[in-house]
Amino acid sequence: MIVPINIKTGTLIQSEIPNQQDIIVGIDLGTTNSLIAYINPQDNLPTIITDEEGNNGLVPSILHFTDNSNWIVGNDARPYLISHPQTTLYSIKRLMGKSYRDIAEHNQLFSYQIIDDDTERLVKIRVNNRFYTPIELSALLLKALKERAETTLQTTISKAVITVPAYFNDAQRQATRDAGKLAGLDVLRIINEPTAAALAYGIGTASDTNTSETIAVYDLGGGTFDVSILRIEEGVFEVLATNGDTFLGGDDIDRAIVQYWITQCPDLGINKSMYRELRLRAEQAKKYVSDNHSTYSHVTQIFEFGTAIILALNPDELRQILLPFIERTLTCCRQALSDAQLTTTEVDKVIMVGGATRTPLIRQKVSELFGKPVYNELNPDEVVALGAAVQADILAGNQRDMLLLDITPLSLGIETMGGLMDVIVPRNSKIPIRAARQYTTQRDGQSGINIAIYQGERDLVKDNRCLGEFVLRGIPAMPAGLPKVEISFTIDADGITRVRATELRSGVAQQIEVKPQYGLSEEEMSQMLLESVRHAQTDRDTRALQEAINEANTLADTADHFIVRHADMLSTDEINLTRDHIAALRQSLSSNDKDLIHTYIETLNTHTRPFAERVMDAAVAMAMKGKQALSNDILE
Ligand code: ADP
Ligand code: MG
Repeated sequence: MIVPINIKTGTLIQSEIPNQQDIIVGIDLGTTNSLIAYINPQDNLPTIITDEEGNNGLVPSILHFTDNSNWIVGNDARPYLISHPQTTLYSIKRLMGKSYRDIAEHNQLFSYQIIDDDTERLVKIRVNNRFYTPIELSALLLKALKERAETTLQTTISKAVITVPAYFNDAQRQATRDAGKLAGLDVLRIINEPTAAALAYGIGTASDTNTSETIAVYDLGGGTFDVSILRIEEGVFEVLATNGDTFLGGDDIDRAIVQYWITQCPDLGINKSMYRELRLRAEQAKKYVSDNHSTYSHVTQIFEFGTAIILALNPDELRQILLPFIERTLTCCRQALSDAQLTTTEVDKVIMVGGATRTPLIRQKVSELFGKPVYNELNPDEVVALGAAVQADILAGNQRDMLLLDITPLSLGIETMGGLMDVIVPRNSKIPIRAARQYTTQRDGQSGINIAIYQGERDLVKDNRCLGEFVLRGIPAMPAGLPKVEISFTIDADGITRVRATELRSGVAQQIEVKPQYGLSEEEMSQMLLESVRHAQTDRDTRALQEAINEANTLADTADHFIVRHADMLSTDEINLTRDHIAALRQSLSSNDKDLIHTYIETLNTHTRPFAERVMDAAVAMAMKGKQALSNDILE
């Protein structure tokens, strides 16, 4: 390595001192709170990066714009939630990779302005007179985290691992990656939050000697609940199932406490800003009672028209409020287990993630469900960032390199003749993956093929979701059926999908990165799966019919061609009769009866078979004659 020297002073330029290894940070970009962590070279332990004073590891994912070009992030932005709701943004993660249509029914959750002029495209947020995409806003959060790390560690940070929920689809993962890029970070990998949590506990790392284990990760954050069942085999992570509720978290508990207080003091005159104040008080009360379990009750005072109103929360009241929420999360856990076809006894470890799991009652109920103590030694709101730092360390080559494996939630494929879905990467395939299939052209001299990419389980593409489309152009003129077009799908470790079409004879190729126009919510995904099961029989029938129609069309076209090309070898009667059979076959298509169509296909085939033989014989005879002529030539 060349060490730059300052010519004037003759000293080494500090930042370029050799052996100073690049620090790769791990980032938990959360809905409510975000954190940044690294492996401390002194003790080799994952460590949350605090601010310069050494406090506040948690950075609230809140962004307040003081004007168009100035903003503040985190704790400093928090007070503006109440005073400036229009210019103070929160829960941005919910909008990542989403269209307005995706979030329309939850619009009231956001106090800021989400633009709804185009329901299909990715959402934008209006602040003052400017429009921001969720990617830009997330980038501002990431930038603040990056700067925090740079100030505290006194070095530049340019590489990161960022975590996302296990159910995030391609659009959401890509959006997260783009946000990192925009913040000046080289995002080495996007990893799943439950995977990170497991890594933080050393599960699946080189020091873990268990060869195979099944773990459940229970993550109750501020606004969302996720449970994931993972299998870890020799350092390979596989998501067996995920479940959850995207609208269930600590915030809902806070709202329920406010509701409880309102019923307690019916005279409380509630307006919007007072409600927000009450919510903050409710969160304080919840945390207080959680942390000082069973001994204290929390008392808060708020003032209305100069009169003090006393609001209280004791452990028993909190327990009553919590129970229905906990039950909902346990239902999701049972569902995830049943999807993974596992019983609670087959789960080796249960990891608690998310600030809301600091509440002892939640830990207790989860532990009861799984029949074993839960892992909660690490701070549940820090564990994801810590694990991201471990993954960063693995990527830096400091630990045995491990592949992090995930699965595709839905099948991927392309549209073929008649609008049929041709699956290339089946649902639940392990990623990274490359899968390919060969196709050919339908028409003579066809120079382009349209490739439409779909995601879903239904047999007809119209029932699935289009992810993108492109045209492979420049195929050299060849008779139909001769070009060999290979369509390959490559899904990398981040779940980003690339589709490539190559005409193998000529080498003409075209590739696109699939960036879905808008995201797919968890509900939509399960909806799609459900539909595919419900329509399985009709889908099979539709597919069989469509395949018969495709076969009939190809055969009719070929036969048409044949009688024109070989008219000299056929009698007029033969030609006319063939025309009749072709017409009858085409006629049969409108019957929508696949058996009938097959009968006509068979009839036409039987009728033309002798002609084909005749042509073959003639061709052979010609070839022989050619050979003879050739040998004569030589002889003479
Ligand atoms: P996210 O993953 O959504 O970014 P976190 O994991 O940081 O969120 O969890 C935030 C939630 O945890 C908030 O609803 C907060 O009120 C709750 N929380 C934090 N500390 C405690 C505590 N001591 N007791 C109960 N809930 C808590
Ligand atoms: Mg979280």
